Amino acid sequence: MKITKVDIYMLDAGAQRASRRPICCRVWTDEGIYGDGEAGIAFDYAAPAGVGMLQDLSRLIIGMDPMRVDAIWEKLFKLTFWGQGGGPVVFAGISAIDIALMDIKGKALNVPVYELLGGKFRDNVRCYASQLQFGWNEKIGPWGPTQEYVDICKYAMSEGYDAVKIDFIAYDREGKDIPYEECEGFLSHDLYALAEERIAAIRQECGHLDIIMENHGRSDSISAVKLGELCDKYDLYCLEEPTTVLNTEFHKRVQRRIRTPIGSGERIYTRWQYLNFFRDNSIQLVQPDACNCGGITEGKKICDMAHAFDVKAQIHCAGGPISTAAALQLTAAITNFAIYEHHFRSTQPAITCLGKYDYQPKNGRYKIPDLPGLGQELSDFAIKTALVHVTVTEP
Ligand code: MG
Repeated sequence: MKITKVDIYMLDAGAQRASRRPICCRVWTDEGIYGDGEAGIAFDYAAPAGVGMLQDLSRLIIGMDPMRVDAIWEKLFKLTFWGQGGGPVVFAGISAIDIALMDIKGKALNVPVYELLGGKFRDNVRCYASQLQFGWNEKIGPWGPTQEYVDICKYAMSEGYDAVKIDFIAYDREGKDIPYEECEGFLSHDLYALAEERIAAIRQECGHLDIIMENHGRSDSISAVKLGELCDKYDLYCLEEPTTVLNTEFHKRVQRRIRTPIGSGERIYTRWQYLNFFRDNSIQLVQPDACNCGGITEGKKICDMAHAFDVKAQIHCAGGPISTAAALQLTAAITNFAIYEHHFRSTQPAITCLGKYDYQPKNGRYKIPDLPGLGQELSDFAIKTALVHVTVTEP
């Protein structure tokens, strides 16, 4: 089998367009089998770079055998020069290709991708309702008053979820954006008070709900320790991205002073970068994104390495339907699974219409798709309405 063509798309997420422009590719072969992949760079400000990166990477794989997944990965890693620079754009591109190749391989062998990763470890997975400060299903935030935070948690619980993730200091008491400078630190007394009001109310009203505090890597490390103390006080499940991932020392500083597990990974790429966080025990929950850590194959290697360091895994997932499908296949196969992230955006029709199938959790649990390959592909609608479409046929 040979790779003949790659179509690259910037998808139109309609109502979600301001924050989401999923970048996807479809890799074609001379046997008519195709595979879809997604570059995990849909959100905020780098999506167009994903299109450009994929064009260059595609030139390197035309004519190659798509079954040789690791050989292609290593070629993209070494021949691009910037692969060894370790940045999000190049690894989002490599990830999209890797996911598409695994989709092709699964289809060619008539097995789901998880069969290529050691087999299915679990049939369905416990999910948390992620980023509830934005909303959930048809209830669209942002929220201001504390009671609204309680209400949205209860709404997710009414659907069967027993775990949630919230950024408690993204919006003020009126539901307006808190300027990012104020969240960088040192954090004001009022910001800690705001976070505590919301957490305490949820803990009191929602009982044993597992709560993840999202901090989006904004705070300085000492402010993150103080947020971590709140997590300890109310027995939160995890503190995510307490501070920047650019220096493992900062995570270590937080980890040494709190007992709540620390999660990070959506902005860490490949085995080499993750190893630094495992070696010094600075994270306890690894959160690689299959669409930017280096793909499904790299994600499996990262999770296996994490297992050897007593670190649990949750696949980060916040893109389009291909990203969800890749995350589910990887989640099915990893041994050190903790919990699955079901993102607010993935509940929105503007995102779900981009996939041929709309997989949603039932009673707070996701069933792993058993179709050959990823078990998902871009919808005709997604392709027809794409904001950008580029085709690469020549090396
Ligand atoms: Mg996050």
